[in-house]
Amino acid sequence: MNEHLLKILIVGDGNVGKSSFVHRFVSGQFNKTYKSTVGVDFSVKLLHWSEREKVRLQLWDIAGQERFISMTRIYYKGALGCVVMFDVTSSNSFLSCRHWKRDLDNKATLPNGNSIPCILLANKCDLSQRVVSSDSIDRFSKANGFAAWMEVSVKDNKNVGEAMRRLVKEILTVQSSLDEPETEPQDCVYPDLDSQCERGSGCC
Ligand code: GDP
Ligand code: MG
Repeated sequence: MNEHLLKILIVGDGNVGKSSFVHRFVSGQFNKTYKSTVGVDFSVKLLHWSEREKVRLQLWDIAGQERFISMTRIYYKGALGCVVMFDVTSSNSFLSCRHWKRDLDNKATLPNGNSIPCILLANKCDLSQRVVSSDSIDRFSKANGFAAWMEVSVKDNKNVGEAMRRLVKEILTVQSSLDEPETEPQDCVYPDLDSQCERGSGCC
């Protein structure tokens, strides 16, 4: 049995639903009173990907630092995939995605220099006060190098698992192309795990 360990970042402005998304994906619940801590929280979820492969996802959720629209390099270190999230009822949160993606591409790259797979999620599509159209999301997603974009509702549990599977699929495809023999041996395909970080949260 092969096991992949994938560090995935969840970025986006405050209040777009990042923590709710991680919580929903990991525990299956939507908790309206979910309180974020300050720092970085991370959660782990094991997926039985196929008969021969398990995927252990390490989801890094920024908390309380969204206002900076920029994270330290340590946060990005070893990341193999990223979710950029916005809220369809907030055009500002959509506009910020450009900065989040740029910050990501500046600070995290694959060993071959390409940007890491990234998916754009339009959350809160259950709400009627939507201000960002599918057309503009689609254009933005293509112009900014996202692997895909999807409408999600963490509240209604719409597309949460699908979005993560789409991203994992993309990461595994990219990783297997990096692993091909003609490429140089890579030493940073898997994240460095700081043992102190294994259990806790807010440590970085
Ligand atoms: P974060 O700051 O990005 O981590 O956002 P939170 O996960 O803390 O969520 C911010 C607020 O949005 C909370 O009140 C959530 O209950 C709410 N929220 C999250 N996802 C959804 C959704 O899909 N639909 C609706 N209507 N509200 C949501
Ligand atoms: Mg949060």
